[in-house]
Amino acid sequence: MKETINGKTLEELEEIFAKEGYKKFRAKQVFRQIHVNKVNDFDKMTDLSKDLRSELKEKFSFAKVKKEEEFISQIDTTKKYLFSLDDGNIIEAVFMDYGSRKTICISSQVGCRMGCEFCASSKNGLVRNLTVDELIEEVYELERLNQDINNIVIMGIGEPLDNYENMVKFIELITDQKGRNLSHRSITLSTSGLVPRIYDLADQGLDVNLALSLHYADDEKRQKFMPIGKKYKISQLIKACDYYLEKTKRRVSFEYVVIDGVNNKDEDVYNLTRLLRGKNIHINLIPLNPIEEFDYKKPKSSALKDFRDKLLANKLNATIRKPMGSDIDASCGQLRNNYGR
Ligand code: SAH
Repeated sequence: MKETINGKTLEELEEIFAKEGYKKFRAKQVFRQIHVNKVNDFDKMTDLSKDLRSELKEKFSFAKVKKEEEFISQIDTTKKYLFSLDDGNIIEAVFMDYGSRKTICISSQVGCRMGCEFCASSKNGLVRNLTVDELIEEVYELERLNQDINNIVIMGIGEPLDNYENMVKFIELITDQKGRNLSHRSITLSTSGLVPRIYDLADQGLDVNLALSLHYADDEKRQKFMPIGKKYKISQLIKACDYYLEKTKRRVSFEYVVIDGVNNKDEDVYNLTRLLRGKNIHINLIPLNPIEEFDYKKPKSSALKDFRDKLLANKLNATIRKPMGSDIDASCGQLRNNYGR
């Protein structure tokens, strides 16, 4: 197997090239081709001599993320992609056009082991982590398919903090000023709440936006639907988020999937208020998106607004997230690591 080089930092590439006897600036050229021009084929690196290109081709390769299918929503501008990886595994990613903010939602793992009851991504368990090369290539392939992307949300399949090392390196690489140079502020990482990793991320100095999938304001309910809730209590989660804000000065947002009659009662308003009042946070209310394996209902739009208004009245900054691409199963919690069903 040839070594793949699209997930290497410039320094790593320089080291690898030095070992092979190439001049240092060659690594810079290749790095620019990969991360600025989004080239994943030595033959297209026309600033290198033909001989050098074929030499490099003999020694190295690129991890590829290949578009298998594209689904285009008829109700909004969302597009969902089914991508295959080199080993045949499947992931999904989504493009959403909010005008000036062109956002992609990327997967961090093949499958997921968190087991949240309401989420389709968990239903086949975890197959494996995405590598740094694959994460990079997932973004660049989306950029080849859609121009002017300026916002990345790590909210696709998988638990990003369960793939911590690769995630950190991926973020470092994609924000590298010599390469893709994406700003840290345009990246949002969403987690189901791996407390120790939230502290690690805060200390890492990456300063990306953090979204926490809270969904329930009391431990009993959270544990019922989210197995991770048994490992870390809500109070521990909130402490970790406070630490994140303190360290990074980035406001944390809390995602809250609203399930009718389950977590939108007055007691939930009370518990959320008790937990979050006075903090510099934002609550994102997501009406439950239907998946076949979860037999609960989303609230009517009046009930959803009512819940939001009660939170607002208690001085909690809450907004409703508009589901995108629901007709193509592209909304939160609907992504899977297989072909349809
Ligand atoms: N594992 C990470 C990343 C997934 S992000 C996390 O849990 O945060 C996807 C978001 O969609 C999460 O907040 C997730 O809880 C939410 N979600 C999952 N299933 C959903 C569903 N059926 N309807 C609405 N949102 C859902």
